[in-house]
Amino acid sequence: MAGNFYSVRCSDCENEQTVFGKASTEVACAVCGTTLARPTGGKAEIEHEIIETVESR
Ligand SMILES: [Zn+2]
Repeated sequence: MAGNFYSVRCSDCENEQTVFGKASTEVACAVCGTTLARPTGGKAEIEHEIIETVESR
């Protein structure tokens, strides 16, 4: 089963960014560089507010 995508709001600058739910590398905010998600060996751990879950097609 493919992983989902999440719309995540950066708690530092309120940028909204789409993050892959199984990211294998750290995902940084495109605006301020804060780490939005970090890999945990399977599912990414998202440390900021998840606004929306987007099912992959
Ligand atoms: Zn940010």
